[in-house]
Amino acid sequence: MTRDELQREFIGKIQRCIDRYQPILEEQFRVDLGRVVAKPLIVGEFIDHCFAKGREQLRRETLAKHGREPTSLRWAMYRLEELVTRPLGSMLTYARFWFPEFIMKSVSNPSAVIVSFLGWSKSDFMKPTVCLDQWTVHELAHNVWCCLANDEFEDHDRRWRIWNEGFAHYVADVSMRHHYPSNVEVDTDWSGDREDGKCLLAAHIQDQGKKALISIPGSWRTLDTAASE
Ligand SMILES: [Zn+2]
Repeated sequence: MTRDELQREFIGKIQRCIDRYQPILEEQFRVDLGRVVAKPLIVGEFIDHCFAKGREQLRRETLAKHGREPTSLRWAMYRLEELVTRPLGSMLTYARFWFPEFIMKSVSNPSAVIVSFLGWSKSDFMKPTVCLDQWTVHELAHNVWCCLANDEFEDHDRRWRIWNEGFAHYVADVSMRHHYPSNVEVDTDWSGDREDGKCLLAAHIQDQGKKALISIPGSWRTLDTAASE
């Protein structure tokens, strides 16, 4: 098989995971995630996406702070920043994703689970993909959070990220586990922050029951204050 065919086949596997788990999550959390697609990471597109988010953020911040749109001078300065940082951004994106690993990112319009194939050799495609179900559900869980809390990554601090990742991990590693086929493995090797987030969620669910999961994206801040007292 050619590289393109291998890539297409891999993307197909993720799309099947999306199609299988999206309705389950939508029913459980009573949300509509809209159309979600699987696609390969294209560096230029990814950078554009980040800059589009940056522009949105600049607009929101200026509106909140000064009650008006950014001035044309401010836009020109931002445009210049973009031009200067674009090549650097491309290089960093390559460096960041230059691993023969499954790295997924969720973006919007349409919502997509993106896989970086940068640096993959043909044999990387042959590696067993027993964790794909879990990883796909993890990304979908981020979308669930987004729908429930109606917020975006860019607006938040580290505590939000810990809760947000914890939620995605709890959903994918614990609460959806019984939906996975028996040959599926669940990856447990996560960084400290991710583990911490998952533990915060687990403690809350143990205390309040499974139904409490749905309220976390909207109420994590209060729970976080309670947990740190
Ligand atoms: Zn995540």
